[in-house]
Amino acid sequence: MTTIFDKILSGEIPCDEVFSDEKCLAFKDITPQAPIHILIIPRKPIQSLKQIKDEDQELLGHLLLKGTEIASSLGLESWRTVINTGEEAGQTVFHLHIHIIGGRKLKWPPG
Ligand code: AMP
Repeated sequence: MTTIFDKILSGEIPCDEVFSDEKCLAFKDITPQAPIHILIIPRKPIQSLKQIKDEDQELLGHLLLKGTEIASSLGLESWRTVINTGEEAGQTVFHLHIHIIGGRKLKWPPG
């Protein structure tokens, strides 16, 4: 199934890009939940963490490393890394994505 993030990856839909390489793309969330809200997505079409395989181990590490690099480059000292998995957890786009959220005091636990 083609998701909105596939359309962003193909260039069909624009995004506010903050980082790109051969494995992933990072861009600003269109409905930010904090002053900084970035999404990092793999170029590989993986629906969610439910579908990951052993062969994705390096890619998943890459996404987390880029998340830290991006958060640091944006001047964040603290941030939250979120991966919603499945509808009940709040996943609305079924192309794996990592949220990097920061720039304000965040509450815990999440709702
Ligand atoms: P999730 O609820 O974890 O699936 O997160 C999906 C996120 O994608 C939400 O935070 C949306 O605001 C965001 N989003 C949806 N469409 C776009 C878009 N075209 N550009 C940027 N972010 C988007």
